Amino acid sequence: MAYDNTNIFARILRGELPCQRVFEDEHTLVFLDIMPQADGHTLVLPKEPAEFITDLSDGALQATILTTRNLARAVQQATGAPGLLISQFNGVAAGQTVPHVHFHIIPRFPDLRLRSHGREKADAAELATMAEKIIVALAHQR
Ligand code: AMP
Repeated sequence: MAYDNTNIFARILRGELPCQRVFEDEHTLVFLDIMPQADGHTLVLPKEPAEFITDLSDGALQATILTTRNLARAVQQATGAPGLLISQFNGVAAGQTVPHVHFHIIPRFPDLRLRSHGREKADAAELATMAEKIIVALAHQR
């Protein structure tokens, strides 16, 4: 299907809408989910315009999965979560709500249920504090 360049992540990538950014390089952008299913819920996007993972070039996919691995480490360190759920939806039928490829990194604790997908907006100040923790954890990886 043709890529819809008015989707919300395309607009964030163009700088038309704000995000709680934690990382950016030539090929990828990472920011916090505005309606986190758990504290520290992070989204990793390729900059290349694509709706499905199957639409991505090899280079964009490689960059995105490497960024996802690096951010997963930082999110785990920042949240102290013993587990991480990493997911990626392709198409409305699979539960995708924003038609630009992205990986979810969601911290998991054994007795903590996930909040509903894309339902409840987080407090902006709490998101900013979490973003700072992840940025610090990322800096310590280098
Ligand atoms: P998906 O359903 O896999 O397409 O996931 C889209 C995710 O984007 C959901 O978890 C939403 O909470 C999240 N989301 C929607 N709008 C924004 C936004 N403006 N900034 C950050 N995250 C968003």
